[in-house]
Amino acid sequence: MSYIFCEKEHDLLRKGVREFAEKEIKPIAPELDEKGEFSLELTKKMGELGLFGVFVPEEYGGQEMDYLSYVIAVEEIARVDGSQAATVAAHNSLGIGPLLQFGSEEQKEKYLPQLCTGEGLWGFGLTEPEAGSDSRASKTTAKLKDGKWSINGSKIFITNASSEITKGSCVQAVSGVDEKGRNEYSTIIVEQGTEGFDAQTMHNKLMWRASNTSELYFDNCVVPEENLLGKIGGAFGSYTHSGESGTMLFDTMLHVFKMDMVDLGPLSLKEAVLSEPDGTKACQDYGKAVGQKLS
Ligand SMILES: Cc1cc2nc3c(=O)[nH]c(=O)nc-3n(C[C@H](O)[C@H](O)[C@H](O)COP(=O)(O)OP(=O)(O)OC[C@H]3O[C@@H](n4cnc5c(N)ncnc54)[C@H](O)[C@@H]3O)c2cc1C
Repeated sequence: MSYIFCEKEHDLLRKGVREFAEKEIKPIAPELDEKGEFSLELTKKMGELGLFGVFVPEEYGGQEMDYLSYVIAVEEIARVDGSQAATVAAHNSLGIGPLLQFGSEEQKEKYLPQLCTGEGLWGFGLTEPEAGSDSRASKTTAKLKDGKWSINGSKIFITNASSEITKGSCVQAVSGVDEKGRNEYSTIIVEQGTEGFDAQTMHNKLMWRASNTSELYFDNCVVPEENLLGKIGGAFGSYTHSGESGTMLFDTMLHVFKMDMVDLGPLSLKEAVLSEPDGTKACQDYGKAVGQKLS
């Protein structure tokens, strides 16, 4: 069946990712979830399939496909396992997306190729213990002095930021105040292994248990001035309110998140809803297919 807006290549992509998810992810997803284990092997395989850098131009090592292709890929992975979908969606939207959209040419050439193959993952650190929905409550600071940023503070719940193959994160920090005296936020690139930067994996989550989630600590972490991503004070305009990538970033994550919240045991609601029409019959409740009940 062809879905509305989908061209033949989208249908082929859906078929290919679905087959991969069924064959490679589904059999091991319950065990990884049970153990709360992030799988490097699966991440590598997803990279080989081309699930990282889906919308990145070929010149930076990506697949140069459209956003619909990206959404289809995430949807098909989420159909069998929220954890792997979180890895893919966070890496593409939160890791790669800001670098692609706001990075300088040098930054894109330096970071993107390794992030499009599955060799490396990248995080986006916004949330703090007291700054989630209200991200303007961020306390982490980045001070520019003598051509260097000095970062102090911490982040929490940062996806893909502490795995064995993580190369770094983009970190939102208070970099000063504007002319009205309000905090100004900038985004700084911090590579793994930088002195004063520590990334610790969080365990025992309630969901996305097989995805990598991290706490980040910055203790006089010093990086070069060129590690600024976009403009000074540009963090909010860049990521939350502008353009295709910003919207996609949160919508896709939210979509995967919502689908994951309604697991119904062996066959999840997400699987039923995202299946072909006859597939929805597989998920029965009081003798009726869940897909029918929802319609
Ligand atoms: C597995 C996982 C992965 C994550 N990955 C990342 C990541 O890669 N990068 C990153 O920066 N963050 C990440 N996060 C953090 C996530 O973005 C935050 O959890 C989210 O923004 C909510 O913030 P909070 O947890 O502080 O909850 P709070 O902001 O304290 O919200 C708690 C509840 O209150 C509600 N609420 C909050 N404000 C209002 C209001 N004004 N009116 C009504 N209701 C309100 C919320 O809807 C929510 O239900 C991740 C979180 C998880 C669990």
